[in-house]
Amino acid sequence: MSTAIEVSGLTKVYKETRALDGVDLSVPEGSIFGFLGPNGAGKTTTLRILMGMARPTSGGAMVFGHDVVHATNEVRSLIGFLPDVPGYYPWMTAEEFLRFCGRLFGISGTTLDERVTSLLDLAGLGGVKQRVGGYSRGMKQRLGVAQALINAPRLLMLDEPTSALDPMGRKDVLDMIAALKGKTTVFFSTHILTDVERVCDTVAILDYGRVVRQASISEVKREGHAMRVLVEVKQRAEDLQPLLATQPWCMECVRDGQVVRCVVSDMTAARTSIPALIADRRIALVRMVDEEPTLEDVFVELVGGRA
Ligand code: ATP
Repeated sequence: MSTAIEVSGLTKVYKETRALDGVDLSVPEGSIFGFLGPNGAGKTTTLRILMGMARPTSGGAMVFGHDVVHATNEVRSLIGFLPDVPGYYPWMTAEEFLRFCGRLFGISGTTLDERVTSLLDLAGLGGVKQRVGGYSRGMKQRLGVAQALINAPRLLMLDEPTSALDPMGRKDVLDMIAALKGKTTVFFSTHILTDVERVCDTVAILDYGRVVRQASISEVKREGHAMRVLVEVKQRAEDLQPLLATQPWCMECVRDGQVVRCVVSDMTAARTSIPALIADRRIALVRMVDEEPTLEDVFVELVGGRA
């Protein structure tokens, strides 16, 4: 698989702040890559350097083999970008805005007609005659993603595209991103874990300007150190929960109805003792299963819950 973005040893120092501290990243072509990190981790700084809008203090980055510092124009021609606070002309309709953006890239004629039609469709804005000034945040953000795709980029970069949206607005933007899978490489920064879990296949977790983990979503979850067991019983889970909570291998134990969930330090010990403890108290076991950690569990483990 070829690489869309290769970042190595990227460092950016502002006067007193080390915004990036030796960032290494490798974004496979065709992936939907979540660049995850709490506020101030260095996400925007990384995107700005990749776009040629800021210069690294040291280290570097290549986009499809082009150096982001020395071949800025080549890089920009391959990228579509949606900044964290995009600007619009409120008096234009979505179609007028997309045509305007297309012409800035030198696109015209039937190519522009076709592209505008398909992007309006993708954004769910086909046939909307209202002016952008009257749009909801979600509509504006969908238009922003469409605008970033007008030059048919190989790489789409989005800076916190869902941060300011309500759940419906977020879902629509995420659906748009998911529809690009396999066609356009998408690199998007966010601090919203569930967004990454919903659409990304690969994730890098940034903290204090350093990548603390990069892997496929499933790998990251598998490597979450905390192991979990779910125990469902027919009755008396309220008696079982304090019993499990006091076992030496149990780090955390919560009950929800007849289901008890444990975070365990020793999976083998937990698997052997739970059935015995349950049988001993004459409680009927319905099921006992290992639970995969969520991305949130892993994230909290890695960055200490600063999101
Ligand atoms: P957020 O999610 O809040 O946008 P972020 O992960 O995008 O955060 P950055 O905006 O890249 O983080 O900022 C990283 C660090 O660098 C922060 O401490 C920020 O204050 C600092 N920083 C960013 N831009 C500048 C600048 N132009 N001058 C000085 N410091 C800056």
